[in-house]
Amino acid sequence: MKQGKLIVFSAPSGTGKTTIIRKLMETDAYKLQFSVSATNRSMRTGEAHGRDYFYLSTEEFKAKVEANDFLEWEEVYPDRFYGTLKSETEKQISVGFNMAFDIDVSGGFEIKKQYGFQALLVFVKPPSLEALAERLRKRGTDSDTDIQTRLAKAERELAVADRYDVVVVNDILETTIAEMHNIMRTFLFEPEED
Ligand code: 5GP
Repeated sequence: MKQGKLIVFSAPSGTGKTTIIRKLMETDAYKLQFSVSATNRSMRTGEAHGRDYFYLSTEEFKAKVEANDFLEWEEVYPDRFYGTLKSETEKQISVGFNMAFDIDVSGGFEIKKQYGFQALLVFVKPPSLEALAERLRKRGTDSDTDIQTRLAKAERELAVADRYDVVVVNDILETTIAEMHNIMRTFLFEPEED
């Protein structure tokens, strides 16, 4: 069976990336499975174990690092670890599913290094940093300190966004989603050039 492909979505938090991924997953023809990462951060209201993340203790996370269970992992924020589990990805792509990853840019570069043309890196940009700050404040799920940390990380990520395969600015959601469908169709269905 033909192996599945990997589509990595990276974006500063608050950019609307989760909404975009959820929307794309509604298209059955993409055979898209969401890669559920592991993290030691606490669960936010509305999140579920096994759907949004596998929530682990710091000890459990570190044991998995030791056991080489991660395809890639990062200390995304100080003492906050996030990682993609090897077993899950391999299992799904081996039976022909395509995988959607919601991970940061270092994770994205690592996936590209391991999977090459089988992986597509998509960066979703906010219209501006001001718009992003506003969205994070409105979301109300993060403390002021967390918001500052996230904005600082956003600046660092935006600086390397042009090393991604595709960069999409999420200004008007419907337009972004239409653009994303074109990108998905090209990557998943068009024959690869030699
Ligand atoms: P949040 O705490 O807002 O859910 O996620 C924080 C950041 O961690 C986001 O930028 C998200 O893309 C990133 N992230 C989530 N899972 C992973 C992962 O498995 N690996 C890496 N490298 N980053 C991740």
